Amino acid sequence: MRIGVLGAGQLGRMLALAGYPLAKEFVFYDMSGSPSAGLGEVIVDRDGSYLDDFLSRVDRVTYEFEHLPVEVAEKLAQHKPVHPCPRALQVCQNREAEKTLFGQLGIPMPEWKIADSAASLKAAAEALGCPVVAKSITEGYDGKGQAVLRDPEQAEEAWTAIGHPRVIVEKFVNFKREVSIIAVRGEDGDVAFYPIAENSHHEGILRYSIAPAPGLQPHIQQDAEKYIKALLNELNYVGVLTLELFETEDGLVANEMAPRVHNSGHWTIEGSMTSQFENHIRAVSGHALGNVQARGLSCMINIIGEHGDIERMLELPYAHLHLYNKGERPGRKLGHVNILADSYEELVWRVRNCAQFLPGSPEFKSSLTTKG
Ligand code: AMP
Repeated sequence: MRIGVLGAGQLGRMLALAGYPLAKEFVFYDMSGSPSAGLGEVIVDRDGSYLDDFLSRVDRVTYEFEHLPVEVAEKLAQHKPVHPCPRALQVCQNREAEKTLFGQLGIPMPEWKIADSAASLKAAAEALGCPVVAKSITEGYDGKGQAVLRDPEQAEEAWTAIGHPRVIVEKFVNFKREVSIIAVRGEDGDVAFYPIAENSHHEGILRYSIAPAPGLQPHIQQDAEKYIKALLNELNYVGVLTLELFETEDGLVANEMAPRVHNSGHWTIEGSMTSQFENHIRAVSGHALGNVQARGLSCMINIIGEHGDIERMLELPYAHLHLYNKGERPGRKLGHVNILADSYEELVWRVRNCAQFLPGSPEFKSSLTTKG
């Protein structure tokens, strides 16, 4: 079976790495012109003129990137199975549609309002009570196109900085930590859930994920499963879906979802019986889902901007290095290291030991440091 992947970055690369043992072949379709997947044929097409060519070469279509035009996914879906469905893409591209769906499904989220001018942003900030976070409705990710307002008087400045005709204004959540749940749904409706991961960000970029999240109360995992299952079933979703959440004193609050394999699930490559990548390939190919049980405790460290001392990392007997074959550039995800251990104490020690070889890696802080 030949799988067509829209987007050709590191997620596509890791999908292919997981798919080859299942005898899948890959064709990547990239609209940006900087493909890095490096495995399989890549069609670079800036104006859509090779879409039919792409379609003729593949049996099924999936994506590793959610910022592609919904019309493209819809057009493809008229000819070949496209998983996840274009509606999932549409919802994930629009924060207003996403939050509306969360509301319909009873998924808790921050109180929010829509603003379409500096004046309505100010009114929303006053109504919700500062601090609030204003985010562009579309085209924003990793904290881009966002502003925190500590006072409604900052509305004018924030509006100009975001530079978007429509924004969502959310009440600022005082979270204990950021977490995510990754789940996969097969064509037959079977659903499997990975354990929740604890995610640490720095300058808007994910740095560390620990899974299973330390000190997590069992009902929190159950709540997250309930929320993501509601989304999967509502969207008749096939493939891997990620839901990013805040853990607060009062339980989980949803932030956003991603209709694809996710950086906070890279630990599953060695840390779980079946990786998120293999499970996505299984699902979109119509196969049974694989076992999602964790093999132990995992931490994923992102390699950002610079590679650091790769040779020293390779010497560590517990470190699994994954490089994306990309050039160094500030803020760019170049690879990741997965570390496994049998106890959180051991995990902390190993992560700190490995992180010293990664320049610019922020200090490893987590609830592990107090609970480990
Ligand atoms: P997002 O692009 O929505 O994932 O937001 C990027 C980051 O901004 C999140 O990972 C949080 O650290 C922070 N953030 C977003 N929304 C809120 C909120 N309502 N309250 C507090 N922090 C937020």
